[in-house]
Amino acid sequence: MRPDRRHRPEGEGATLPVLMVVGDDPGSLEALDGALRRRYDRDYLIISEAAPGIAADRLRELRAADCPVAMVMAASMMRTVPGAEFLVQARAIEPGAKRVLVVPRGGPAAPSTYVPVPLLRDRQAATPVLRAIALGMIDAYLPAPGSERDERFHRTVSELLEEWAHDAAPALPAVRIIAPRQSARGHELRDILTRNDIPYVFYAAESAEGQRWLRQAGQDGSALPVLVMYTGEVLVDPPNQQVAAAFGVADLAAGTVDMAIVGAGPAGLSAAVYAASEGLATLLLEREAFGGQAGSSSLIRNYLGFPRGISGASLATKAFEQAWSFGAILSVSGPVTGLQPVTGGFILRMAHGGQSHARSVLIATGVSYRRLEAPGLDSLLGAGVFYGATASEAKALAGEQVFVAGGANSAGQAAVNLARYARQVTILVRGDSLADRMSQYLIDEIGATVNIGVRTSTRIAAAEGTGKLEALTLMNTKTGIAQTVPASALVVLIGAVPRTDWLPSQICRDEHGFVVTGEDLPGASSPAAGAMLPRRPFPLETSLPGVFAAGDVRHGSVKRCASAVGEGSVACTQMTQYLQEHARVS
Ligand SMILES: Cc1cc2nc3c(=O)[nH]c(=O)nc-3n(C[C@H](O)[C@H](O)[C@H](O)COP(=O)(O)OP(=O)(O)OC[C@H]3O[C@@H](n4cnc5c(N)ncnc54)[C@H](O)[C@@H]3O)c2cc1C
Repeated sequence: MRPDRRHRPEGEGATLPVLMVVGDDPGSLEALDGALRRRYDRDYLIISEAAPGIAADRLRELRAADCPVAMVMAASMMRTVPGAEFLVQARAIEPGAKRVLVVPRGGPAAPSTYVPVPLLRDRQAATPVLRAIALGMIDAYLPAPGSERDERFHRTVSELLEEWAHDAAPALPAVRIIAPRQSARGHELRDILTRNDIPYVFYAAESAEGQRWLRQAGQDGSALPVLVMYTGEVLVDPPNQQVAAAFGVADLAAGTVDMAIVGAGPAGLSAAVYAASEGLATLLLEREAFGGQAGSSSLIRNYLGFPRGISGASLATKAFEQAWSFGAILSVSGPVTGLQPVTGGFILRMAHGGQSHARSVLIATGVSYRRLEAPGLDSLLGAGVFYGATASEAKALAGEQVFVAGGANSAGQAAVNLARYARQVTILVRGDSLADRMSQYLIDEIGATVNIGVRTSTRIAAAEGTGKLEALTLMNTKTGIAQTVPASALVVLIGAVPRTDWLPSQICRDEHGFVVTGEDLPGASSPAAGAMLPRRPFPLETSLPGVFAAGDVRHGSVKRCASAVGEGSVACTQMTQYLQEHARVS
């Protein structure tokens, strides 16, 4: 085996991110080490360890030395500890590193046979791997590299490294500011961006990163601050108006667009891609950061075409680039706070005072999931703690102890589904009974399912686990008695609040605030009889003609990424039709 950089000259590669490989079979470890070195040796510090215990110590040392670890790869079958368990330890030590389980080619049960997608051939052997993914123990699994140039293997490794690099930055920044650490103007610009909810990253001009960004922007640093915009545009010591213009404020005032989309989650981004690709003048207005809720998901596993899942941030970045390349104007404008119908279209008002004129508007502002507040929960998000949208994981929780927090129908449905696979499902409700908020048919079904229990008057006081959820502390709100119970998964379904408080009263909403569209509008099917629209509405049109809604914000929507993307594209088609029939397209 080739030596790692511990044996290289002092200082060389000191700041390179680490790619660690762990496996106790010398031949396989050497093959993996070799495959990685051939591709990544210049950009990463490759460390191979044969003993999981020593690898864990090494990770601790790297952590203590503040050395970034991009990826830890572990062989699925090791003598002392299963690879997935080691990767749980690795997450506890280095939470940001991508964790990859390397399975033998041909699948865990048949190391000598090559099949292109090995685990699908042998469900039984695949089960522990699928379980590890579902419980957030690993980010991905990969068959060990085969030939000299195993492009499939390297494509996955590269994608994961790209995700790591993306995650290592705070968000998809709309702007990077490079300024002297103590500069008043630098501080002022950061303040402006913060107040306008525009995501930015600050680099001190004196730092190595700052110097790197200056070089990349073609600047020698003699004039500062330098702003590198998300479009690649470079602004040198710009006045405030120029900064505002770069974020589309000037675009907003300048003319009328065919379609303004409010909200850049999956629904809004999809609408922007389709509208701009159809040649419509398209403006996408986002409050804080592109990607919406999906952008906060560490791994979306049920999105078509990504068998190993895709991180929300990756999906958002790709969608952003796609919309931009078709010509959509993408603006982190701060929140849109007003929508007013005017002759020929609508005026949209921003919190910072700018405004935009559009012939049609798509509301794609999504929802905020109510979050549970308890110590330990946030750090285990995706590692046993899930918000909504996790029914697809049910099978992978076979034999586990699962808790569902919530007392409404969504929680009941999730519990019934999970109980088909889990050893025991416990519904946790703060109230006295399920009857307050759950339909009777579900209560009956829950009562008839032997492995579902209900704990009323209960709140979650804490979550614990090293690398993945292991226990919950439950507090009885009446007696004040706390109990710590083992838990493999917690599914939180305590409701979602649509972001619609900024909409005018002409836009009809249901009792929970979701925007009502199409046939669900009062009198929609017989417009003559006092309907809100003088004609039959388009299926995704709201009660205000020319204003449409898509994604989670819409009454009756399926709270899924793919559904939001689908609705965004459908809304775009209907809005194009609306513009052709009712308004002039530019
Ligand atoms: C942690 C987590 C994990 C998930 N995992 C999955 C999964 O695995 N699979 C799956 O299918 N689904 C998953 N979902 C659900 C999925 O992400 C959503 O269904 C999807 O993002 C909805 O897209 P959307 O565009 O309708 O709304 P959102 O994603 O909510 O986007 C709305 C956007 O509008 C912006 N906005 C809001 N108000 C304003 C305003 N006034 N002005 C300007 N902008 C505004 C917001 O900042 C946001 O960017 C998950 C959700 C969460 C929270």
